[in-house]
Amino acid sequence: MPHYDSVVIVGYGIAGMTAADTLRAEGFAGRITIIGAEQSEPYSRPALSKAMMSAEAELAPQFLPPSAHGVDVLLGRRAVGLDRQRRQVTLDDRTRLSYDGLVIATGSTARRFTDDPREFVVRGADDAAAVRLRLARRPRAVVLGGGPLGMEVASGARELGCPVTLVQRGQPMARHLGPYLAELCRRAAEERGVTFINDTVTEVVAPDDPNATLTVRLAQVPPISADIVISAIGDRPSDGWLAESGLLTDDRLLVDDCGRVCPADTPPPGRQGIENIVAAGDIAWHPVEDGHRRSPLWTAAIEGAKTAATALLTGRTSTPRPYSPYFWTEQFGLNIRVSGTFPLDGEPEVIAHGQTRDPEALLLRWSTDGTGSAAAVNYRIPIPRLREVAQGNDPAA
Ligand SMILES: Cc1cc2nc3c(=O)[nH]c(=O)nc-3n(C[C@H](O)[C@H](O)[C@H](O)COP(=O)(O)OP(=O)(O)OC[C@H]3O[C@@H](n4cnc5c(N)ncnc54)[C@H](O)[C@@H]3O)c2cc1C
Repeated sequence: MPHYDSVVIVGYGIAGMTAADTLRAEGFAGRITIIGAEQSEPYSRPALSKAMMSAEAELAPQFLPPSAHGVDVLLGRRAVGLDRQRRQVTLDDRTRLSYDGLVIATGSTARRFTDDPREFVVRGADDAAAVRLRLARRPRAVVLGGGPLGMEVASGARELGCPVTLVQRGQPMARHLGPYLAELCRRAAEERGVTFINDTVTEVVAPDDPNATLTVRLAQVPPISADIVISAIGDRPSDGWLAESGLLTDDRLLVDDCGRVCPADTPPPGRQGIENIVAAGDIAWHPVEDGHRRSPLWTAAIEGAKTAATALLTGRTSTPRPYSPYFWTEQFGLNIRVSGTFPLDGEPEVIAHGQTRDPEALLLRWSTDGTGSAAAVNYRIPIPRLREVAQGNDPAA
């Protein structure tokens, strides 16, 4: 088992914060230093496109409960380089922080088409506040991307009275939830007045005149005009500071199933990463059957950070924690929570229909190859119970 006096955590989002909590919970008594590029303590990112977009929105983010474990936090500071031989992280003011163990948790940034301020994204609390303020003036909004983020923002914009057009290639939400649940989302959105365009965005044109409208060019249909464009077209891992570290493989930070980082020279198969550097959250590419994949989700960041921090302390004897995927979205009056693997094709089994507060509430289950998946649509059920339903148990049992 390795012995460390100091651990540096780069990135102060949910993954970095959970890693610190886990290190302490697992008995690490040495020094922990967290470096966070944002000026504030960590907050709920999922709330930015849900609570913060609603008509009664507080423009302040929902901060997470502070860590109470004696951690040194450097806020508003950014790591710009990593020297693995010297075991040092370089910060943006050129100071160097030495570490015995390192946790990489720098998350990701939003993709966008332009650098124009009239194209908005929602990644941080400042972004969400800016979008919310702009939507209050009821502009014609064009949302690019029909994943959970795009649909949640579109939902908020409609609630605020904005005309909303959403551009998405294919059926919104289908890539995340599958056609059955996606259809529920589409119907709810159309009932609330969203116009959908099924096409590919080729360009967003932002004229120099700050009062001029933006133009969104599309592959198949004529261009559309917008007072405001909100892009929800995915994220890009924040790994630029690792460019010279030798840790990236084809521009990706690969980890093993315990979250240990696998540099490009780690021999496959059954790659085992280096002992004193782990990664978690949106930045990390985890091994899957056909390669590596990121899982940019809140619970995946939490579970990944717990596994990675434990692996840092226990070394080679570490084993991955069991992880049961969980995801939720709130849009157009629908509160959808899913447990298990999604997207899924086919019709689900209706386990329960209607509840006292909502006769339309649904509890659904898809039985696949023995590992079931379940969804609660406006159906009140604790997450552990939803997981049990996914595994085949009756909710009343
Ligand atoms: C608007 C929105 C809504 C979402 N909704 C959901 C949802 O409903 N359900 C769900 O499961 N998931 C949702 N997600 C995804 C989920 O929030 C993320 O998967 C999760 O926050 C990732 O956590 P993280 O700690 O890896 O990254 P982050 O939260 O991005 O934290 C990384 C931190 O590192 C900092 N950083 C970056 N580079 C550096 C550097 N060089 N030096 C120091 N610090 C640095 C960043 O500023 C950031 O504060 C949503 C995301 C967004 C943006």
